[in-house]
Amino acid sequence: MISGDNLFGRLLGRHNALALDAPATAFTGLQLHLDHQGRVLSISGSLRPHLAQHFSSDAKPLLHTLLCANSALSVEGLPADWQRHSLDLDFQGTAGHILHTRGGIEPYGEGWTLRLLDISDLLVGQQLAQQREQDHQLACHISDQLRVCSLSRLPDVLNEHLCSLAQRWHIPCAALALLDDESQGWQIYSYYAAHDAPALWQTGQRLGTSLDSVNGNAPLSLDIAQGRSDNPRLQSVFGNAEGFLVPYRDGQGVAAWLLCGFYTGQQHTSDRDWLNLTAAIAAPLLSRLREQRHHQQLERVEALQGLLGTGWWELLPATHEIQLAPQLLRSLSLEESASRQTLDTWLELIHPADRQELNSRLQDLQALGKPLLTSVRLQRTDTEQNPVWYRVQGQVLGVGDSRRWIGFMLDISDIKNQQLQAAAAHARLDNLIASSPAVIYVQRYVSGALHPAFFSDSLLPLLGWTLADCSHEGLASLIHPEDRDLYFERTRQLLREGNVRSRYRVRDKLGHYHWLLDEAKLLRDDLGLPVEAVGLWLDVTEATQAAEQIKQSEERYRLLVEDSPAMICRYRPDLTLTFGNTPLANYLECRPAQLPGLHLGDWLSDEQRQAFVHRISQLTPEFPVSTAEISLQLPGREHAWWVWSDRGVFDEQGALVEVQAVGRDNTEVRRSQQQLTQSAKMATLGEMATGLAHEINQPLNVMRMAIVNVLKRLSNGDVQIDYLTEKLQRIDTQVQRAARVVDHMRVFGRRSEIEQQPFDPVQAVEGTLSLLSEGLRGKGVDVRISPADFSVQVKGYVDQLEQVLINLMVNARDALLSQREKHPELRPWIAVHSEHDSRHVRIWVEDNGGGIDPRLLERIFEPFFTTKPIGVGTGLGLSVSYGIVENMGGRLNVVNGEDGARFCVELPIVSEG
Ligand code: ADP
Repeated sequence: MISGDNLFGRLLGRHNALALDAPATAFTGLQLHLDHQGRVLSISGSLRPHLAQHFSSDAKPLLHTLLCANSALSVEGLPADWQRHSLDLDFQGTAGHILHTRGGIEPYGEGWTLRLLDISDLLVGQQLAQQREQDHQLACHISDQLRVCSLSRLPDVLNEHLCSLAQRWHIPCAALALLDDESQGWQIYSYYAAHDAPALWQTGQRLGTSLDSVNGNAPLSLDIAQGRSDNPRLQSVFGNAEGFLVPYRDGQGVAAWLLCGFYTGQQHTSDRDWLNLTAAIAAPLLSRLREQRHHQQLERVEALQGLLGTGWWELLPATHEIQLAPQLLRSLSLEESASRQTLDTWLELIHPADRQELNSRLQDLQALGKPLLTSVRLQRTDTEQNPVWYRVQGQVLGVGDSRRWIGFMLDISDIKNQQLQAAAAHARLDNLIASSPAVIYVQRYVSGALHPAFFSDSLLPLLGWTLADCSHEGLASLIHPEDRDLYFERTRQLLREGNVRSRYRVRDKLGHYHWLLDEAKLLRDDLGLPVEAVGLWLDVTEATQAAEQIKQSEERYRLLVEDSPAMICRYRPDLTLTFGNTPLANYLECRPAQLPGLHLGDWLSDEQRQAFVHRISQLTPEFPVSTAEISLQLPGREHAWWVWSDRGVFDEQGALVEVQAVGRDNTEVRRSQQQLTQSAKMATLGEMATGLAHEINQPLNVMRMAIVNVLKRLSNGDVQIDYLTEKLQRIDTQVQRAARVVDHMRVFGRRSEIEQQPFDPVQAVEGTLSLLSEGLRGKGVDVRISPADFSVQVKGYVDQLEQVLINLMVNARDALLSQREKHPELRPWIAVHSEHDSRHVRIWVEDNGGGIDPRLLERIFEPFFTTKPIGVGTGLGLSVSYGIVENMGGRLNVVNGEDGARFCVELPIVSEG
């Protein structure tokens, strides 16, 4: 049997177990007498006054009606069933308290005795342990969650836990404040407020340094009522309400505060628990935030490296390797999986021209710790592209065994290529300036004067001087004395107007003068004061001399044109004059200035104008010159003959733009020619007088015979009408024949027409024969005519062609007659025949007079050349004939045939139109 003491001692785990048999009043606890049904008969013991219900023994209530609902279940059934069980019974106590008891039941007399001891303190201890365990688990849970959640969810997760924490400890306002790295002040990182609590803080709020002064070793309670706050700044953080702060310390000191507003902490939770809990939140949070910062920094660095085309490298001398940033591997087209490369692989990427230098500098870096800074090109396969340039920079970090060799590579292709391009452009420009005939100079402004301060290198090759030669007063002394005033004026104008353009001569080292075109500009400072003049000298010696020569030659030509007795003019293809000199103006009876605009065609007959225009249209760049004799109707004069020479001026396309013409008045020559022709004609006529007399005698003889015969018949009285009629008709025919000869002589004797006319050359042949053939026959010369069976037109004067033919035939007659004197047996003949082709008609006059002495053939066309005795020959016949034929555009020539001379008159055929 277990004694009551032992039982209680065991049940309660206490040494001072209460004795069951102690007097009822002395029993510390509750002692209840129950009947077999479990009705309460009496209650005694020290705890009795703490019961809620007033117990009366008359009522005999069942035990479980006195108990709280949860323990009512453990006393189901009858008391006999409860024996040997430890009973935990909770009674309704006063003021809402619950009376926690533990005890057992024993038979007692007729009924049962239930003895119970107060175990409230035991439960509290248990609860505390339990709560602490739960707190610990919560802390671990929070810590775990904060450690594993994604960085982006970190604030939310923290806030959730802050929320659950606050709810669990019934904290109206809870916040976690962290030390902000940037501002070095405190800041609310996360914040929770119960829905009915006033908002004390907000997320992100800055608290400044108000928390710095707080002792961060233990939680701190701000209990206003107890006047514990001696820190007014801290008080204001909590809005002067009560508060509770828990610090979290890391190696550097307090790193976080858990702030609880309207809350003073709980008695059940120890300071250590609070510290642990806060550490469980703050430690992982801070580590995650550090991780995040680190991550961001890494990202930033990587992005920066990517943007700059740069990346770090680290030498690993032990393995003769180099480690490269991923960006570098990418931009160097190395395999990204292997960040370590052998040093040689890396150096292979560098252009051979730069490789050795880089290698040697790397060795200096390792051996001497000399910082590395150099620019290198990459070895590229596609040579078309611009080279890729990298700046390689490196340094030693740390000392002794912990030394590291770290650096970066930066893509500077843009800068380098620009630099190279700029340098090339600069060099080109320098070269250009140096090799051009231009000299660039700068003159500095010093108290009103300009002093040479710079000349481009081209000065030396151009003039042979250097800057020193031109300094001070040197320059002025080099200027040509005649141009010095001009030069001083140039300087004055430059200072006055800001720019100037002038031209003067400067002496070179050899003593020759160069014409320099000087263009200068004055540069002023912000205040508008002159600073320096920048200018350019251009050697224009050749151009100036050429211009001078052109001017001179133009002047010479102008004088030549002006003073020339010839008519000189320029006119457009439509015959409008653009220029004419004085002689031309004199002929046209106006002043030279009035000539431009006049129309050349105004002085030409329609026919002449057409011919003129046609001739001009034939001009080509290959054959730009054409000469002709034109006849004009000038004001106040009858007719003028000008020998006119035109030269066409053509544009690049070969179109005629202008004609330059030179003319000479040929009227006088023409007149004398005409007179000559006329006198020659008269001479011919005179020559022909004998022939003509014969020509007229012939009909006269016939008529006389007829008249004699008629008269004889009349005297015989034998007059028949028919006979008379026949004789009279014969007379009439002969009269007509004589009249024709006389008519023709009259026509032949007349002066030629002014202008050439088209006519059939056969007409001239017939006219000639009509004048000569009878006379020739009379002299025993046989005239052989081959009748022309064609009709063509030539242009000229029919009487003049007739005169040519007469001359030829008269010459032939003379040759024949003198030949017959020597050789009486000669049967003289003259043959005339014509032929033509598409362009020319030829009239041949041949004789059998023995021909012309070959030595004289060249000379017979000369004027006044004759082999005939003085007084007989004039020596003009052939020369005049030659002129006539030529004037008709034809040719007169002679050859010696078998029997005698063969003269040929060749004339161009003109088309009918
Ligand atoms: P002219 O008849 O007054 O002498 P021309 O000029 O007509 O002058 O002739 C020049 C010369 O040419 C003649 O003197 C003559 O010697 C020579 N001549 C011209 N025609 C003939 C001819 N048919 N046969 C031989 N000689 C000729």
